[in-house]
Amino acid sequence: REVLSDKEGKSQWVSLQDISPNLILATVAAEDSRFYEHWGIDTRAILRATLQNIRARKVISGASTLTQQVIKSIHHFPRNWFWKFVEIWHALRLEVSLSKGEIIIQYLNRIPYGNQTFGINAASWLYFDKPPSHLSLAEAALLAGLPRGPSIYNPYRYFLRAKKRQEEVLRRMLNKGVVTQEEYRRALEEPLNIIPPQVSFRAPHFSDFILSRIPLKERQNISSIRTTLDFELQKDVETFVKNCVKSLEEWKVTNAAVLIMDNERGEILSFVGSADFFDSHHSGQVSGVTALRQPGSALKPFTYALALEKGMNPATLILDAQIRIRSNGIDYIPRNYDGKFHGLVRLREALACSYNISAIKVLERIGVESLLDRLKKLSFDSLNKGADYYGLGLTLGGGEVTLLELVRAYSTLARSGIFKKEKIFLEINDIQGKAKPLPEDEPVRLFSPQVSYIITDILADNDARIPAFGEGSVLSLPFACTVKTGTSGNFRDNWAIGYTPHYTVGVWVGNFDGKPMRNVSGVSGAGPLFRDIMLLLEKREKRINSNFAIPEGLIETYVCPRSGMLAGSSCPGKIKEIFIKGTEPKKVCNLCS
Ligand SMILES: [Zn+2]
Repeated sequence: REVLSDKEGKSQWVSLQDISPNLILATVAAEDSRFYEHWGIDTRAILRATLQNIRARKVISGASTLTQQVIKSIHHFPRNWFWKFVEIWHALRLEVSLSKGEIIIQYLNRIPYGNQTFGINAASWLYFDKPPSHLSLAEAALLAGLPRGPSIYNPYRYFLRAKKRQEEVLRRMLNKGVVTQEEYRRALEEPLNIIPPQVSFRAPHFSDFILSRIPLKERQNISSIRTTLDFELQKDVETFVKNCVKSLEEWKVTNAAVLIMDNERGEILSFVGSADFFDSHHSGQVSGVTALRQPGSALKPFTYALALEKGMNPATLILDAQIRIRSNGIDYIPRNYDGKFHGLVRLREALACSYNISAIKVLERIGVESLLDRLKKLSFDSLNKGADYYGLGLTLGGGEVTLLELVRAYSTLARSGIFKKEKIFLEINDIQGKAKPLPEDEPVRLFSPQVSYIITDILADNDARIPAFGEGSVLSLPFACTVKTGTSGNFRDNWAIGYTPHYTVGVWVGNFDGKPMRNVSGVSGAGPLFRDIMLLLEKREKRINSNFAIPEGLIETYVCPRSGMLAGSSCPGKIKEIFIKGTEPKKVCNLCS
């Protein structure tokens, strides 16, 4: 996509020889027919408009010359009489300092043509997939007509209006004598091949995201950007997202978003913000990657990671029974997803089955403050309130976060505890064609390799999930892969986030208008999409089949499934469990004997 201007649109500066003469003639005819005769303002037109406006008791409207429109696009003056005169003064000065040709170039490069394009180059590529030097008379007349009302004449939505406007521009050209009767007739009949937006407007949310990362004043000095996006993958994922939303229609799901990161380099490979960017009915332009949503259970792994740091182990027993807590200023009794209480459960089971009450019990022990502190280090910038505000509900998704923040945090676990900010730029070239230096963020260790590994091992444990998710659920994949699901209150958001050694994938399913979905869980909503994407990544790249690297400093031993202590002869069985050296149980089970 051709990008960049100070208005978050697409533009690339072009000069007079890059522009079809048709376009210049059409633009003058459409916007300012006395352009070559006036001195920056069109006194005849102003006089006429003033009389109309005085009668209507309004500020001067209309009658802006191309020169005045250039000034407007630079300065954005308020709309009143005083600033109108300032604008006229600037326009007169511009006429003194620039030639007519230079002024029209300023105009063509700055003016909006709709659909977030600024400047004729971007518009020409967007609507006709060709440079502005190759525009036919018919195409030039269509484009020249758009700046008058880029949304009113939006050719994607209102093609007939845009066509009518084009015909009006052509008629004016004929009346001015800049085209012959024959040229006029042929242009009217020429079919207009407008390129569908999906084709020309690639990875729209990612492009917006990139723009948001470049300071306004730098944008105009950039000629091209090479990004980390893997376009082939992006196209596949876009199709998956569309199909997923379609398949969940009857569950009242209207949107989904996906983010894929390469763990080693931290590069964003795919970024799909919604099912359809152009679906304004379902707020398709909102990006589900950066929108604030409640994460449900998706923050639990970080709660448990801190618990391991504080000396708990995967076999530590946690009581899953009714409790009352206070979160966001409200008292409530948290429930488990299945509505049951599970009594004493091992930490591994509590996390894998995503029991709510156990998570709260653990957070009570480690403290909301320390969890919040770590989440902020993991770059959850959205959690900008105090620990008192979130309370223990923080671990159940009481705060609002973004999919991007979740993917960053999970990829940290995938990297054995090393946090890396996402990378989106590979190369930025300035107008002179010189590559700009790209700042590299220093990686930071936020979890030990041992803690990261144990959490990874639990999240990749298909057996431990069975009590909550059943056997052979969509979450179990035929290779080493972690996954955590989440569902926010009243089924508003549904998540599946996880990683292999090489990729972190985050999936959100929901509605931007906050309408609840119908009973969609992580397994039925985001889960299948997560699965499809992981399988696709595995097919694309053989290296995904490798296992997670096991760090030093861990030991394996057999424990009793009931007590989490060393398995004894009276125990109903024994489970192999991993421990950080020193935190393993030392005593033989005394519960079963
Ligand atoms: Zn026992």
